[in-house]
Parts: sequence; C-alpha cells; structure tokens
Amino acid sequence: MYEFTYHKAESIEAAIATLQQSDDAKFVAGGQTMLPTMKHRLASPSDLIDLGGIAALRGIEVNGDALVIGAMTTHATVAASAEVKKLIPALAGLAGNIGDPAVRNRGTLGGSIANNDPAADYPAALIALGASVKTNMREIAADDFFTGMFETALAENELIVSVRFPKPQAAAYMKFENPASRYAVVGVFVAKTKDGIRVGVTGATPCAHRGLRLEAALNKDFSPAAIDSVELPVEKMNSDIHASAEYRAHLVKVMTKRAVTACG
Ligand SMILES: Cc1cc2nc3c(=O)[nH]c(=O)nc-3n(C[C@H](O)[C@H](O)[C@H](O)COP(=O)(O)OP(=O)(O)OC[C@H]3O[C@@H](n4cnc5c(N)ncnc54)[C@H](O)[C@@H]3O)c2cc1C
Repeated sequence: MYEFTYHKAESIEAAIATLQQSDDAKFVAGGQTMLPTMKHRLASPSDLIDLGGIAALRGIEVNGDALVIGAMTTHATVAASAEVKKLIPALAGLAGNIGDPAVRNRGTLGGSIANNDPAADYPAALIALGASVKTNMREIAADDFFTGMFETALAENELIVSVRFPKPQAAAYMKFENPASRYAVVGVFVAKTKDGIRVGVTGATPCAHRGLRLEAALNKDFSPAAIDSVELPVEKMNSDIHASAEYRAHLVKVMTKRAVTACG
C-alpha cells in the first residue's frame, strides 16, 4: 500500500469539499473493495475520505410505497431490517446472501453499486425494481446508472446518498453463486411491477443489464415455460474459469425460471 492521507468526513458537504481540495482523493465506505485494491497497489489515492461518520448516509426509511436505503447501510442491516423484509423480502434475502458475515457487516449498498463489479448482486435488484440512485447532485435511474464493467454514471465529485426502491407486486432473486466468494456466476432478479415484468441480470455479461428478451416472454406469459423459447446472445456472455459463455447463457434461463416460480 502506498502512503495516503486519511480524513473522516462529518457531513456530505465536508466530504465533497475535501474531495475537491485533494489531489486524487477517493471515498471509502466499508473498505471491502477499496482496501484490498490499495493493498495490491492497484489504486493509490492521495487521500481517503471515510464516509462512516456521516449519519445522513445511513438508515432505512419507508417513503410512501418505496424503501429508501442510505448509501452507508450495510448488507447485514438490510438483511435484518423488518421494513425491507415486509416491503421487498427478495431484497433482504439478496443482502443476506452476499459474501460472508465480515463482508456483510462492513460492505455497503453505496460501495457495492459505485464499484459495479460485474458479479455483484445489488445491480440486478436496482435494475429489476426500477430503483433510482440519489446523489449529492441529482437522481439517476438504475437503467442509466450501470454503464460498463466497474463503471457507472457517477461524475468525479459525485457521492451516492441513497437508493429508492419502489415496492413491487412480487419479486424474487436467484443466483448461482461462486461457492468461495458467493459472488454471482449468474444472478437474476425478477420483479412484477406496475409497468410490467422487469428482469435484472448480473454475472452473465461485463455489466449488469435488463433481460429484455426475458421480459418480453414473461410479459406475455408469466410462467417458467415461457423462457424455453427465449434465445440469449451467447457471444455477449462472460467466459472464465468459473463458467463458459454457453453455461452462463444456460444459467440465466435456469435462474429466471426459478425466480418466476418463487414469485408465484
Ligand atoms: C470476500 C468478499 C466476498 C464478497 N462477496 C460478494 C457477493 O457475494 N456479492 C456481492 O454483491 N458483493 C460481494 N462482495 C463485495 C462487497 O459486498 C462490497 O459491497 C464491495 O466490496 C464494496 O465494499 P464497500 O461497501 O466496503 O465499499 P468500499 O470498498 O469502501 O468502496 C468501493 C468503491 O465505492 C466507492 N464508494 C463507496 N461509497 C460511495 C458512495 N457513497 N458514493 C460514491 N462512491 C462510493 C469507493 O470510492 C470505492 O471506489 C464481496 C467482497 C469480498 C471482499
């Protein structure tokens, strides 16, 4: 790890001001990705701005028919929340199956979506639920937020404040997980929303995406059998030591069928 200056921000405004005054500063949430990346010398920020002291970034609120979850809320808090279990149980289940207890107690919603790992779970949920990301500058629809592998629509001086998840009529998340890390080899989130069926797919391609072909089939016939005739573009799938592109394409259909069955 290279040398850096540590700052503990007490407000969103202070965090942004420190970022603007620094040479090459980065925010740190739970450090679950940031610190290993620095230890491996893959990142060498001049300054680290710890968001852990900003109360406004933490917590879960029910706002009308939606859940608003602060960026610094840990996966363990989301998994244990009575509000999340009541309004969107699939989201509590997703959070409770991320990594291991240490990762769930330090890792955060904001850190996960800012990092946008191609195998992360939350991006599939944000996309399927039609969530929106509130930052210090604006509100970004999930459909526009995840722009590429480890890339998002966030500008340089932009901080995620919270995520708004509208309550679906029904939803389910199914993942075929890497048994060591629990990252998704493939994960599929299916939601019945007021605008129809939405499907978020993670792990399969370089960036989480909407499963538009799956949505088209499920909007006609919401049953596992509707998926049989859907053809997925194998050439766009990831291929690595964990799974070939063909296997991932197969898993997307299997996970979608399981999620449809779980939605009831
Ligand atoms: C062993 C292991 C297993 C894991 N398994 C899974 C898994 O099964 N599924 C899964 O989805 N994930 C998994 N993860 C990832 C984990 O869940 C964390 O969410 C992820 O590592 C980000 O960590 P963090 O929240 O501590 O953010 P940090 O590491 O602190 O930050 C990550 C990035 O986000 C930026 N950032 C953080 N907060 C904000 C904010 N509010 N606004 C703007 N930018 C911000 C930081 O600057 C940094 O670039 C795993 C991680 C580990 C180490």
